[in-house]
Amino acid sequence: MAAHQDKRPSEERKHKSTQNDPRTPQVQWGRAWEVDWFSLASILFLLAFAPLIVYYFIMSCDQYQCSLIDPLIELLTGNKHLSDIWNKTPMLTYRAAGIYTLWVTFQVFLYVFIPDFCHKFLPGYVGGVQEGAITPAGVVNKYEINGLQAWIITHVLWFANAYYFHWFSPTIIFDNWIPLLWCANILGYAVSTFAMIKSYFFPTNAKDCKFTGNFFYDYMMGIEFNPRIGKWFDFKLFFNGRPGIVAWTLINLSYAAKQQELYDQVTNSMILVNVLQGIYVLDFFWNEAWYLKTIDICHDHFGWYLGWGDCVWLPYLYTLQGLYLVYHPVQLCTANAIGILMLGLIGYYIFRMTNHQKDLFRRTNGNCKIWGKKPEYIECSYMSVDGTKYYSKLMTSGFWGWARHFNYTGDLMGSLAYCLTCGFEHILPYFYIVYMTILLIHRCIRDEHRCFSKYGKDWKRYTAAVPYRLIPGIF
Ligand code: NDP
Repeated sequence: MAAHQDKRPSEERKHKSTQNDPRTPQVQWGRAWEVDWFSLASILFLLAFAPLIVYYFIMSCDQYQCSLIDPLIELLTGNKHLSDIWNKTPMLTYRAAGIYTLWVTFQVFLYVFIPDFCHKFLPGYVGGVQEGAITPAGVVNKYEINGLQAWIITHVLWFANAYYFHWFSPTIIFDNWIPLLWCANILGYAVSTFAMIKSYFFPTNAKDCKFTGNFFYDYMMGIEFNPRIGKWFDFKLFFNGRPGIVAWTLINLSYAAKQQELYDQVTNSMILVNVLQGIYVLDFFWNEAWYLKTIDICHDHFGWYLGWGDCVWLPYLYTLQGLYLVYHPVQLCTANAIGILMLGLIGYYIFRMTNHQKDLFRRTNGNCKIWGKKPEYIECSYMSVDGTKYYSKLMTSGFWGWARHFNYTGDLMGSLAYCLTCGFEHILPYFYIVYMTILLIHRCIRDEHRCFSKYGKDWKRYTAAVPYRLIPGIF
């Protein structure tokens, strides 16, 4: 098969013959990542502290009006003990456990049992059965893309309840926020641990497992590439989008409902958060098929980072602005509101257009127009684990000629806009932009490490042609 696909000149075949040499960086693509001391230290830090960080933020809002400093001062001055804070923290309740179980079960039901019908009547929407990217073992997985449908059904039911059925209060999420945190943690740890055990005893595809030999690294970053139960229940697709991202907009709606209940009004800042983050979430589901080609799905293995991160970190920390606005209802002046809206929309435009340009370029194999011209690119090659040689292209036109990750720049502009809606009284709402900056810079470096190990010298040619990562001329 390798010989059949390898139709390039002898110089490139010589390149292929070095593939089993461990000194050749390309052999590391998608597997055998070396666990250096920095990665290990970061992993241990995150495993130990990420759950505490989430608890600290949510507790600060619940007990200290979203001040991150006051609990520290009280603890350091001896005014309060850890036990005082813990004793005031709402515990797990049967009600929260019931709500959460129903929620996750409903999302599993929508994912597994309702095939997509949106693509049949929404022009331009790509849903139904779609193929993912090729894995290092040379497998191409099929996915049922029905996230938009799940989002629509869930939200129609939410509004039907709020305005017609009144089965439960629209503030239900806010009212049970900390008890639900314990439920999300239980699911996050359970699914990560299950994924680890599964990878040893019944992996979906043994050739796509990555064992580094370091227990903590394997638990955190995952061993199995695409763990599945049955033919269709894909852990990464499910946990990446549902239940966390479907919940994102509902959580914000619940915060808006709480503002209405407490202050008899919904502030323009809360509306901005709901609108800007709503666009981001809808964009995610509209482009769910495209997300099959992003790092989360096509490069990351499934472990605690994705499992716990999607269940706890994302719904709790990505929604801090709305939570903050329940405690501090900021009413922005019109000029500020418009300025923030523009920043959010321009950021979104850059994020979407950059992603779209790469998608169009890759789908048409470069036979398209970017900003009215035929795109320029660098030809590159790589090998799968069985030694088969593949060819690819790295575009150097459009936003991809400005910087190597201009999509992240747009994402960061949008993230900053969410934070600015909250004014400048507290630092808590700004956690998101700080976190996203660290996440995306780290992701950039991780991706470039991977691309270098995949494309070798071709990647170097690309970085010489596009020397900046996020901001042209600066970084
Ligand atoms: P990208 O969409 O930028 O994908 C990177 C991959 O694209 C590379 O690994 C490489 O893959 C390919 N590639 C790189 N350069 C080029 C080029 N010049 N031409 C063609 N292909 C290229 O990264 P992500 O998957 O991380 O991000 C997708 C989106 O999701 C981004 O907009 C990001 O902002 C967003 N995001 C949001 C997060 C959040 O929490 N809100 C978290 C993470 C991402 P290949 O191997 O195919 O060559």
